[in-house]
Amino acid sequence: MSLDTDIAVVGGGLAGASLALAVAEVGLSVTLIEAKPFAVPDDPAVRERTTALSFGTRVLFERLGLWSAIGDSAAPIERLHVSQKASLGRVTVDAGEYDLPALGYVASNTAMLEAMLRRIEAEPSIAVMAPASFESLETTEQGVDLTLREGEEANSRETRTLTAGLIVGADGAGSAVRQALGIGAKRDDYKQRALISTVTPECPHGGTAFERFTPDGPIAVLPRSESTCALVWTLPPERAHKMETAESVEFEAALAEQFGTRLGKLRLTGPRGSYPLARTLCDTTVARRGVLIGNAGHSLHPAAAQGFNLAVRDALTLAATLAEHKHLYSNEFDPGDPDMLGAWAEARQPDQQRIANFTDLIVRTFSNRLPGLSAIRAAALIGLSLSPTTRHDIARRSMGLALAPALDDMLQTESRCV
Ligand SMILES: Cc1cc2nc3c(=O)[nH]c(=O)nc-3n(C[C@H](O)[C@H](O)[C@H](O)COP(=O)(O)OP(=O)(O)OC[C@H]3O[C@@H](n4cnc5c(N)ncnc54)[C@H](O)[C@@H]3O)c2cc1C
Repeated sequence: MSLDTDIAVVGGGLAGASLALAVAEVGLSVTLIEAKPFAVPDDPAVRERTTALSFGTRVLFERLGLWSAIGDSAAPIERLHVSQKASLGRVTVDAGEYDLPALGYVASNTAMLEAMLRRIEAEPSIAVMAPASFESLETTEQGVDLTLREGEEANSRETRTLTAGLIVGADGAGSAVRQALGIGAKRDDYKQRALISTVTPECPHGGTAFERFTPDGPIAVLPRSESTCALVWTLPPERAHKMETAESVEFEAALAEQFGTRLGKLRLTGPRGSYPLARTLCDTTVARRGVLIGNAGHSLHPAAAQGFNLAVRDALTLAATLAEHKHLYSNEFDPGDPDMLGAWAEARQPDQQRIANFTDLIVRTFSNRLPGLSAIRAAALIGLSLSPTTRHDIARRSMGLALAPALDDMLQTESRCV
């Protein structure tokens, strides 16, 4: 049976677009299926979104030829400052301690998506179907048949089928591909929303990313440009809705009360948007001829800024695994080979589990009003600041460098194969 495409990627968000590029890079054909028009969204609150990229993600974006387009507008994080409201103890980590130009970067989601769209348009081995929604699948010995509904309308009558060797669900936390593959998932609602915007601080941020824990949830104030900062303020839903529409004066006063005055006055200078926060973890990330990546596979709280960074590592290692198999099996190569997919899932599990547990631990420990916990949290922060080994380990993990040597080996195999 002949395939229409080696890999069908469902979902053209940041995770799906990164995977499509990584897989095309190793010489496989890709069809990217996106339910909305495949373009950068117009909504100002969506355009306001930023992502803190680890240094490891920068290295991987360089390999995909994306960094030159993203790096120019990305703000380097030279220092990390972690503190807790109304408590002693703080941790600082400096890029200089690691001989790196930056611990990470704050990039605009729009800039990233624009760079990916441009690369995808120029890539002959990627076909884009958008707007088109994944509806169902049927798996056979030789491939997977997808039924897609073309057009933006949910009741559009135009359906199409597509046969692929492997389907990748990159269709977000409520993944329809995950359900069609029969993969179970557990969703824990944090009962919080992340309110995002841009603020202009009175004092220079000096390349420092601030993370401040409050009983309501963490507040991140991250360098965005020379003079502005990206704000990610976690709040209980009711308060988040109130702050989303509050007058600027009321908003700024409430923020100052929670964040303190370490950057002087924070002036609200961007549109506001807010997003519900939940953790979704799947029983597995592979099934017969199917893989899940990005939020479809694991959707995390943004407190540790790890969700997308993890998705990029998943995408690049999957591409490298496919490349290795293509090289070994040549004409017999099957992109849905169960042993290959199982080996990839097993190799990725420790990183996925560690990041998910680390993120959840931070959120539950530091966003808790239980009496006595505040002193324990303060002690933890003081302990961390005094223990260089633990601090360095955390810093390496958040920079996404702990995996770098292994990934480097795999990617060298990949480049030998193409
Ligand atoms: C406030 C906030 C801040 C964050 N900050 C960070 C950070 O600093 N660092 C970090 O690493 N991560 C961060 N994250 C996480 C990060 O945003 C996500 O992990 C990342 O965007 C990956 O998303 P995705 O592509 O998997 O899913 P999505 O962005 O949800 O994309 C899914 C895509 O699939 C499409 N789709 C859905 N259903 C179908 C269907 N049936 N057929 C076809 N297409 C379909 C959708 O239209 C959509 O385009 C943050 C998250 C939030 C909410």
